[in-house]
Amino acid sequence: MKKRIAILGSTGSIGTQALDVIRQNPALFSVEVLTAESNCHLLIRQAIEFSPNAVVIRKDECYPEVAEALKSYPIKVFAGKDSLSQIVEMESVDLVLNALVGYAGLKPTLAASSAGKDVALANKETLVVAGDLVMKLALKNRVSILPVDSEHSAIFQCLSGERYNTIEKIYLTASGGPFRGKNKSHLMNVKKEAALKHPNWKMGEKITIDSASLMNKGLEVIEARWLFNLKPEQIEVVIHPQSILHSIVQFIDGSMKAQMGLPDMRVPLLYALSYPERVVSEFPRFSFMDYPQLTFEFPEKGVFRNLDLAYEALHKGGNMPCILNAANEIAVRAFLEDRLTFLEMPDIIEKCLQTVPFIMQPSYEDYVDTNSDTRDRANEFIRNQ
Ligand code: NAD
Ligand code: MG
Repeated sequence: MKKRIAILGSTGSIGTQALDVIRQNPALFSVEVLTAESNCHLLIRQAIEFSPNAVVIRKDECYPEVAEALKSYPIKVFAGKDSLSQIVEMESVDLVLNALVGYAGLKPTLAASSAGKDVALANKETLVVAGDLVMKLALKNRVSILPVDSEHSAIFQCLSGERYNTIEKIYLTASGGPFRGKNKSHLMNVKKEAALKHPNWKMGEKITIDSASLMNKGLEVIEARWLFNLKPEQIEVVIHPQSILHSIVQFIDGSMKAQMGLPDMRVPLLYALSYPERVVSEFPRFSFMDYPQLTFEFPEKGVFRNLDLAYEALHKGGNMPCILNAANEIAVRAFLEDRLTFLEMPDIIEKCLQTVPFIMQPSYEDYVDTNSDTRDRANEFIRNQ
């Protein structure tokens, strides 16, 4: 039986790589749903190639073009902001791959879990914003949240056959991004073109900026806290510029397990889609001769303040990580539009963490309010900057 997959965000970096995995394994997977925000041309091409049951284009104004292009195919076409959460509930979906970017991923993740679907989760912001609610709901409905992020997939693979209460700590590896080793006076003047040049991974714009500012690692620390039920003190970040060791678990007996391989997101994607099986792939293999040295160093937290801010938000708990995420989304957008400098991004995030009201045990509605309140404040701080 083929696993029938709904891909949310099929036109993005993760979405297109997931389709490559599926293209190479037609006997194992079929595509049930494809969705995009506004890239209707790619969505149409993907739909014609993979023949899903349904597609969703989020922007209403793109609907006529998609509907017209697919009218002679047996493919349903939906639009609108609520369609994403409805489509994941479809009876014929076995697994939802959430490859959306940002806060928009939260609601569909909750909807998929509520409908009893396993979720392969690339959208780390889902767990940063409301990890407690997401994990509780998954447990209640006995569904799996399968990590796609390479570091979390590495930890997940290292924990196969192990008990979670034997973890002493985990080390999340980080490449260090394009500005590794740079000081504050260099970072003061960096522009988006430089920040968008990641040394090892080709990814969407938002995560590429997050990687340059180390916020990506901060978000991943919070993601790991929820996925593996860890205390903040059990999660450490180590810079590993070659991106070959994807993360490490240290157990209570002092033994360490790491998962390694070339930096290729199709590997963790294949693992999540085929879990609990491991299947054959033709992806390029690691060569020791290409990597005679693997090196490690600790991050410069004084320079890259976002990592400290993320730990601070995690320690305080409640809606703090939600504030961190929303402020960061607004700051990254402003940086990409040349309205904010690279070093001003953490300033905006810090101001939001200090001023948005703290809620210790937020409900879903509290998260929704915190997210929109933080966005308004962050935009105002940027205007007055
Ligand atoms: P991307 O920007 O390339 O793609 C995002 C996709 O989501 C697109 O298909 C877009 O149409 C859709 N989308 C965006 N906003 C939307 C909205 N409001 N409503 C509906 N659809 C929307 O992003 P990406 O790099 O593929 O990253 C996706 C997620 O995976 C992010 O959370 C990122 O942190 C995580 N991730 C990415 C990588 C990577 O290699 N790209 C690695 C690890 C984790
Ligand atoms: Mg990652």
